[in-house]
Amino acid sequence: MVLDTERNESNTEVRKVFPLIIKSLCGSVSSRRTLCPKDVQQYGSVALYRSLRLEKWGLTQFFQYSPTNNQQLITTHHKPLMQPPTTYCDAVAGMEADSLHRIYHDTAYGFPLHDDNELFGRLILEINQAGLSWTLMLKKQENFRKAFSQFDIEKVAAFTEEDKARLLNDAGIIRNRLKIEAVIHNARKIMELKQEHGSFKAWLDNHHPKSLGEWTKLFRKTFRFVGGEIVNEFLMSTGYLPGAHVEGCPVYEKVLRQKPAWLDT
Ligand SMILES: [Zn+2]
Repeated sequence: MVLDTERNESNTEVRKVFPLIIKSLCGSVSSRRTLCPKDVQQYGSVALYRSLRLEKWGLTQFFQYSPTNNQQLITTHHKPLMQPPTTYCDAVAGMEADSLHRIYHDTAYGFPLHDDNELFGRLILEINQAGLSWTLMLKKQENFRKAFSQFDIEKVAAFTEEDKARLLNDAGIIRNRLKIEAVIHNARKIMELKQEHGSFKAWLDNHHPKSLGEWTKLFRKTFRFVGGEIVNEFLMSTGYLPGAHVEGCPVYEKVLRQKPAWLDT
């Protein structure tokens, strides 16, 4: 039995759950991966509703009961009416002006940072995102700032076992021992880099330009918990690597005016 959305559109349950589905979809953008029909399919089917129309992405889903799988509801196919957003820029364009993603995208993502502590703070968020959503990081960013002494590199480098225990008990941040230890270790490494290069930013500037592969190698040699994706996001979000915004994005020109480092490459 195939149920199509047209017949069920007046269903109040569908209408009730629709904003929740959209919210979860927006959540999946948080990792800044491409939104694909599979994401839509996944969220559509966990919603446990017979059918719904994902108008926002122009997708219509069709569900039916599976005769072989305990009569569970399965998605049989989806019919794209128009392309879902494939970039972070496109995805946030459909979000509310006061959403955390919009604020981050419009005012921070890709803009060069000049303050060492702010650079360190961004690195902290990128490290902590590993395996989690960027939405979560944006929600917790002020908690991170508070827990890690306003991202003061010198203070974090001096964190004791007591501080570590405090952080591991702080539900406002991510209580992951490896991540917490990496952040403290990295603060100590940055203190060394500051001695040699004058500042964390000068160390980055002195190594610029590099390819992502070369940067990743350098970061892995220098810091802890810095895989390719973390390094890429950190450098893209701070303007050392291009690609934060697509050319048609209204923020693209704003970023250019701030002269991100990648412009010199
Ligand atoms: Zn953009």
